[in-house]
Amino acid sequence: MSNHFHLSKKELLFKESSDIMSKFLMLKNLQVEKLETEICTSNKLYKQLFDFSPDAILMFNNENILYSNQAFLKLLGAEDNKDFLDKKTWDFIHPHSIPTAKSAYNDLLSGKETVNIIELKLLSLDGQVKHVRVSSSIVFCEEQFYILSCCHDLSNYYKQERIKAQLEKTVADEKFKVEFFANISHELQTPINVIYSAVQLQNMYTLSNQYDEALMYNDVIKQNCLRLQKLLNDILDTTKIDANHFKPNPELCNIISTIEYITESITSYIKSKDISIIFDTNVEYKYAMADTSLIERILLNLISNAIKYGKQGGHVWVNLYDEGEHLIISIKDDGIGIPKNELPKLFNRFHRGKHNTDTITNSNGIGLSLVKSIVKMLAGTIFCLSTEGIGSEFVVILPMPTHDGDELGHLEYAASLDLNNSLNIEFSDL
Ligand code: ADP
Repeated sequence: MSNHFHLSKKELLFKESSDIMSKFLMLKNLQVEKLETEICTSNKLYKQLFDFSPDAILMFNNENILYSNQAFLKLLGAEDNKDFLDKKTWDFIHPHSIPTAKSAYNDLLSGKETVNIIELKLLSLDGQVKHVRVSSSIVFCEEQFYILSCCHDLSNYYKQERIKAQLEKTVADEKFKVEFFANISHELQTPINVIYSAVQLQNMYTLSNQYDEALMYNDVIKQNCLRLQKLLNDILDTTKIDANHFKPNPELCNIISTIEYITESITSYIKSKDISIIFDTNVEYKYAMADTSLIERILLNLISNAIKYGKQGGHVWVNLYDEGEHLIISIKDDGIGIPKNELPKLFNRFHRGKHNTDTITNSNGIGLSLVKSIVKMLAGTIFCLSTEGIGSEFVVILPMPTHDGDELGHLEYAASLDLNNSLNIEFSDL
């Protein structure tokens, strides 16, 4: 007979309940084991998910990195997590991006935002700058907080953008070149046609022994040869400056007397024109280092424009202001002026104004762009003030510190021969 026939009622009750208890515990154990397996599997899956993510993921708490995936290690040039042991989260943020990062961090901590997306520059372990888009969220757990950040590397995006910008620049440069050559060809066409027609007429008159008539065309040919020479000089200088092949050659000189001499030479050259040129200066001497041939170029161009767009019986004022460190050159006329809407593009290459007059046709729009390039090369500035119907003023400001005395000896402006030639060329289209 079995023993439990001899058990008391109390003992029997205890045995039954302990059986149920152990069954319950066994069941709970099984459930715990199952849950543990599930947690382990999901941990593995999450780890795999994080590790295989192409984006860098990191979890940090306050300043310490608690977890980072493979992509984060790669992004920051680390071999494994040990490389981050003595690093704080902020150590990886570029100083420029610290204010943005701090403000996003504070927004998460204060609960102002639960998720935020910002663009940052990170610093890799070897000092490289990485542009990233960072999405972050915060988790609070048992009085602790954890920030989970996912960083998308934008370096490739920026690289593509740079390549795109370079491509666009190359296309624009090509377009500019094509337009440049088209414009140049057009500008060369007119004087060549004039010379060709004049030569044909000369030929015709010579064959019929009308030598006086034939000779009349010499001036036309000479004038148009000079126009061609001016155009070619301007194109050559423009391309040399563009390609950085033009270097100023400053020499010690009295810049005031140099400019006065150039102005006087123009005055006698245009005697036949009904325009007066008035020169004024606030100092008699200013010894300075200057490239006089470039200054001559600027003056001839601006003064010839002032005459070309001046009026019968009008004036051109050439004023110099010595400001110690700078020389200000102002060339003012009381001519036709420039419409307000043309002023912003005045110094653009090939810009020609639309004037309500048929007398001005010889404009190719290279002169002012060349002057601007020369002034820029001399580290100066140029601007124009103009009112249509009243006149224009071109102001050139050049850095030109006054040299202490002329005890070192200065060069007298020695360009008279060249200047005559330059005048012939520069004023060929008047
Ligand atoms: P160009 O020497 O062939 O005339 P510029 O580049 O020197 O070419 O000038 C460009 C345009 O600027 C001209 O077509 C003209 O409309 C305008 N311009 C330049 N200087 C003056 C001026 N002093 N008064 C009025 N218009 C001017």
